[in-house]
Amino acid sequence: MIKFFNTLSGRKEEFQPLVPGEVKLYTCGPTVYDYAHIGNFRAYIFEDLLKRFLLFMGYTLTHVMNITDVDDKTIRGAAAQGISLSAFTDTYIKAFFEDIRTLRIAPADHYPKATEHIPEMVAMVKGLVQKGYAYKRDESYYFSIAKFPEYGKLSKINIEELQSGQRVDADEYEKESVHDFALWKAKKEGEPFWQTEIGAGRPGWHIECSAMSSKYLGETFDIHCGGVDNIFPHHENEIAQSEALSGKPFVRYWLHCHHLIVDGEKMSKSKGNQFTLRDLLARNVDPLALRFLLMSTHYRKTLNFTFEALCQAESSLQRIKDFEYELRTRSFGEGKSQAAAKLINQTKERFIQGLSDDLNISASLTALYDLIKEANILMSENRLLRSDAEGILNLLCSLDDVLAVFPAPEGGMIEKAVLDSLAADKGPGLAINIPLSDEVLQKIVLRHRARAERDFRLADEIRHHLLKQGIALEDTRQGVRWKTIPAKKQPG
Ligand SMILES: [Zn+2]
Repeated sequence: MIKFFNTLSGRKEEFQPLVPGEVKLYTCGPTVYDYAHIGNFRAYIFEDLLKRFLLFMGYTLTHVMNITDVDDKTIRGAAAQGISLSAFTDTYIKAFFEDIRTLRIAPADHYPKATEHIPEMVAMVKGLVQKGYAYKRDESYYFSIAKFPEYGKLSKINIEELQSGQRVDADEYEKESVHDFALWKAKKEGEPFWQTEIGAGRPGWHIECSAMSSKYLGETFDIHCGGVDNIFPHHENEIAQSEALSGKPFVRYWLHCHHLIVDGEKMSKSKGNQFTLRDLLARNVDPLALRFLLMSTHYRKTLNFTFEALCQAESSLQRIKDFEYELRTRSFGEGKSQAAAKLINQTKERFIQGLSDDLNISASLTALYDLIKEANILMSENRLLRSDAEGILNLLCSLDDVLAVFPAPEGGMIEKAVLDSLAADKGPGLAINIPLSDEVLQKIVLRHRARAERDFRLADEIRHHLLKQGIALEDTRQGVRWKTIPAKKQPG
């Protein structure tokens, strides 16, 4: 049974998607006015872990992440540089996609941009006016929180303090100033605007997520994520807009991750302790060690980022990689052992158990570290056999579908017919499309010939040799699949 802590109910609940086996997930995406910093990535990596785990557990999943490319901050940024809004945001959109690839964050199914969904937002504002939840003042439209008695149910704000009828135009504001909030902001001098049925202007930030989530996921969907600072006002306002209009529950499980601080202090540009991924890459930080660090603190705890912790994450990760390397390159006796089979099953079970308990990553990682410890003991006693090693490698590979901390594998397939031709010295041009050095390819061909001649000792020797060069081979019916594997870090 999978359990998540639901901010809405304030407790851990059993996770049951609306449609059995199918998860619909919405995560608030970047506001593209700057490069994303490690605080943002903490949230995106928590969401990635959640998503990868649900996929691992066999759910199908639709993931939508919005791109906020029009709001107070993007407009200010474009104006400061004297360029168009889209020219300004394009830079950061491109950077965002580069960064998530570097961090092995699995891409969403849809990345709707706010500027491409203006009609959907206008329709929503119109609907809210028709139903009496929104009103027009000075060409802008506001949501009347007094009309929605459940306002505050997510953030648990004190309803008594609601200052109904007073309005706030800013997209982000403090809990102390609970006001009617802007759905649509009237055109202002020097700001981008859209000419629409409800007048000239631009959308507020909150309406964007309500309009785009319902378009791609329906009026009610399973999981909505973000950082704790999104709870109020952003998510509270999303609930008000969506539920007022549809009359249905908006989201079934709200999951929020906590803050990231740096060296015990709040991160801020002015203090110089705000790091983007780019800042860290410039300091030669391994992005996958950063991923590992950001992932390994439970999402509902404050994460204290320090360079010392980053070093520790790097060495923990290296330990896992070294273990994998050892399994791939060591010679094992033939066969399979009971002890290893039990170890593999237990590890997988404990790994799943950990993450099933509100993404308790520490428990899952402990299961992995215990596996390494136990397997190393078996290896030192020569009790680990070839099939055991292969079983453990398979397990590591499948756990990495969730953790995604090994470098993304690169590889390909060399078809059997191509290998046959190469082995018979026919069609040398065939090798051109294979992105391997001649040396390596020749070894693969030599091995193919050895196997055809049933010289398995030579075939195995070559396989072993290539492994040490960081290339893993797998024989399939179609041919040979090759894959680069992470090389062992050189000491010093
Ligand atoms: Zn949002």
